[in-house]
Amino acid sequence: MQNQDSILRVAIPTPLRRLFDYLPANNTELPAVGSRVRVNFGRRDVIGVVIEIVDHSELPRHKLKAIVEVLDTTPILETSILKLNRWAAQYYQHPLGEAMQQAMPILLRQGKPAQPQSQRQYVLTTDADDTTLATLKRSPKQQLVYNQLQNASGPLSDAELRLHFSDHSYRAPLQKLIEKGLAVEQYQPLLPQGNPAPQPGPMLNAEQQTAVAAVVRTLGQSQCFLLDGVTGSGKTEVYLNIIEQVHAQQRQVLVLVPEIGLTPQLVDRFRRRLARPVVVMHSGLNDQERLNAWLAARDGDAGVIIGTRSAVFTPLKNTGLIIVDEEHDMSLKQQDGFRYHARDLAILRARELDVPVLLGSATPSLESLYNAQQGRSQILYLTQRAGDASPPQLHAIDLKGQPIQDGLSLRLRQAMTSHLERGRQVMLFLNRRGFAPVLMCHDCGWHARCSRCDAHMTLHRRVQRLRCHHCGSEQRLMSTCPTCKSEALVEVGHGTERLEETLVEMFPGYRILRIDRDSTRRKGELKDKLGQIKRGEAQILVGTQMLAKGHHFPGVTLVGILDADYGLFSADFRATERMAQMILQVAGRAGRAELPGEVFIQTHHPEHPLLRTLMTAGYAAFAAAALQERQQTELPPQSYLVLLRAEAVQSGEALSFLQQVRQRLTQYGVTEVQFFGPFPAPMERRAGRYRAQLLLQAPQRGPLQQLLSTCLPSLESLPQTRKVRWSVDVDPMEMF
Ligand code: ADP
Ligand code: ZN
Ligand code: ZN
Repeated sequence: MQNQDSILRVAIPTPLRRLFDYLPANNTELPAVGSRVRVNFGRRDVIGVVIEIVDHSELPRHKLKAIVEVLDTTPILETSILKLNRWAAQYYQHPLGEAMQQAMPILLRQGKPAQPQSQRQYVLTTDADDTTLATLKRSPKQQLVYNQLQNASGPLSDAELRLHFSDHSYRAPLQKLIEKGLAVEQYQPLLPQGNPAPQPGPMLNAEQQTAVAAVVRTLGQSQCFLLDGVTGSGKTEVYLNIIEQVHAQQRQVLVLVPEIGLTPQLVDRFRRRLARPVVVMHSGLNDQERLNAWLAARDGDAGVIIGTRSAVFTPLKNTGLIIVDEEHDMSLKQQDGFRYHARDLAILRARELDVPVLLGSATPSLESLYNAQQGRSQILYLTQRAGDASPPQLHAIDLKGQPIQDGLSLRLRQAMTSHLERGRQVMLFLNRRGFAPVLMCHDCGWHARCSRCDAHMTLHRRVQRLRCHHCGSEQRLMSTCPTCKSEALVEVGHGTERLEETLVEMFPGYRILRIDRDSTRRKGELKDKLGQIKRGEAQILVGTQMLAKGHHFPGVTLVGILDADYGLFSADFRATERMAQMILQVAGRAGRAELPGEVFIQTHHPEHPLLRTLMTAGYAAFAAAALQERQQTELPPQSYLVLLRAEAVQSGEALSFLQQVRQRLTQYGVTEVQFFGPFPAPMERRAGRYRAQLLLQAPQRGPLQQLLSTCLPSLESLPQTRKVRWSVDVDPMEMF
C-alpha cells in the first residue's frame, strides 16, 4: 500500500466507542500496526496505538489530520495482544482506546521508549565476619532484613523488598547492613535472572501425577482444565511440575493470582524451584519496574510471569500455558471502568494461542463447574491434603432460642474455651466492621443515618465517630439525640470492634487481635498483625473476610462464622455461593495433620437446604444443588446478564435515562433478550447520587452482544448523558 493513500486507524484513550482516522506524517515511514503514535486530538496531543491501516475513511481526506510523530519503529503490541484487546473491548462494551490502557505499562502510555532500565538491588556479602554478624542480635529490624536477603534465592530489588516489608520500613535497617559491610547494592542486569540451582520438589502423589500428565499431554493444544483441589492438596506443586515441562519446550507461563494471593512466599517458592527467571507484575511495582517486567515477558526473557488480573494483557513471546489460581476469586473481575474478568480473558487468550489453560481452586466458581459439566473443560481432582491432614469438621449452630451473648452463642463460647485451654488459636469472622451498625435513640426512635446515602451510619466507638461505610462520610459521635435531646442513645447490633471488646472481658488472659480495614489502616499494620498471629502472640483473632483470604495460620484449630445469614438471604444471587466459598476457604486453612480443625457456623436457618448440603455433603454437592437452583431461576451460568448502571445528582434522572435506553434497545426487536427494570438500585442514594439499574438477560451471549454493540455508541449522544454517569457491566459479579 502506498504511504500517501494509507489511513491509520488509531485507538485513543477517550470514552468514545470508536477508532479515529489519521493520515501518516509527511515523508516518514508508515508506522506498523501495534505501534504507538502521537496525534493531535481535540486541543491536545495524545498517545494512541495504530490498530489498522486502511485505504478508505468515512471522512473526506482533507478533513483528516496527519499524525504528529511515530513513537515505535517496531510494534510494541503484537497481533495476538491487539486481538485480545479488541475482543475484550467489544465483549465488555468498553471503548477500545481506554481498554488498551490496561495492556500497556504507564511509561509506554506516556510515550516513553520501550526499553528496560537497570534497577537497584541488594544482596548479602559472602565474607561477613562473625563479630559484625553478632551485632544483628541487638537489632531485630536489621536481622529481619538480613534474614529476608538470606532466604531469597537471589538479590532483591526495592519492589521485592516492599512485598516483604511494610512500605519503606526496610530502608533504614538495610542502609545499616550496607554500612556494616553485610550487604551490598548492585545494579540489576537488564534481563531477569534465573536460578542456577533450582531445588527439587516433593514426589508427587498419584492424583497430582495424573493431573500433571493430563495437562502436559495437551501442551501445544487448546484445552481448558479445572484443577479442583482442597486447600493444601498440592495444587501449587502441580503448577510447578507442569511449568517445568513447559520450560523444557522453551515456552513461557503466565500465572494469574488474586491480589491477596501474590505473596513473597509464593514468588520465592516459584524462584526456588524453577531455573528460568520468574517476574512479578503487581500494583506495588514502580513504573520502571513494571515496564521492565513487561518487556521481559514480551521479549521471552521471563520464564514465568506471575501477576494480578491486569497481567492477563501482558504480551508473551512464546506462551506455553496460562494458569489462573483461585479462579473463583472475585478480585479477578475488575469492578469499575473497564469491567473485564481476567479468568474469562485468560481462557479466550489460551484458545486463540492454542495452549492449555489451567484454572485452580478449592472452591470452583459455578461458572467453571458448569463449563466442565458441558464438556468445555476437563476437571482434575486433588482430594487429599498433603501430609495426610484430616479435613476440618463443620458444625452449624442454630441460633434460634439459644442464649446469645454479644453475638456469641453458648456453644461457640464453650468450644472456644476448650480450644484455648489446649493452647490453640481461635479465629472469628464477622462481616461488619465498626462497633455497632446502628445508633438509635431509645426515647424517640431516631436513627443515625448518612445524609448522602440511604444507609445507617456505623458507630466507631474507639475513635468516637459515626462513619458511613458506603461513601466515607464521617461525623463526631453525639452524646444526646439530635431530635429529642435524650441521652438514651443505644448501640444496636455488633461489629468487629464491639466483638473485640466483648472478647476482652469474656476471655481474660488471652490476647485478642482484630483484623479489618479499620485496624489495618496504617501501612504495614496488616503485615505486623499477621506476623503476630503466626508467631502465636495472640490467641483469639477477630476479623472480616479480609482475614479469610490467602493466609495460612497453622495454629488456628477453631473457626467461628458468627453470622451466616447475610449470605443466605441477600439480594445478590451469588451471595450464597460466595459464603460457601468463604466457609470452605477458611475451613481449609484450619488445623493441620496432628491438629484437625473445627468450624462453627452460627445461623438462624440451619435448615436452609443449600447450607445443609454444604455442611453434610461438601462443596461439590453444594455446587451441584446451587447450579440446579440457578437453572430453575434461569440465572448465570444458565443465562447471561448485562447490568447497565446509571447515577445522577437529581432524583429520577438516572431512572429516566435508563428508561430511554430500554426504549432504544427494545426498538431492535431482539426477542431473545429480556429486560428487567429500570429499577432504583437496592441502595438508591449513595454519596449524594441517585442510582438506577437496568438488567438484560439472554439465554446466549450472541444476541446480547450484538444488541449492545449496535446500540451503545448511539447512547453517547443522548442529551441526558451530560447529567448522568452510566456504565455497562457484562457478566456482572455484583448486582448492586
Ligand atoms: P495448594 O496450592 O493446593 O494449597 P500446596 O501446593 O501449597 O497446596 O501444598 C501444600 C503443602 O504440601 C506444601 O507445603 C507443599 O510443599 C506440600 N506438598 C504438596 N504436594 C506434596 C507431595 N506430593 N508430597 C509432599 N508434600 C507435598
Ligand atoms: Zn431521641
Ligand atoms: Zn454515606
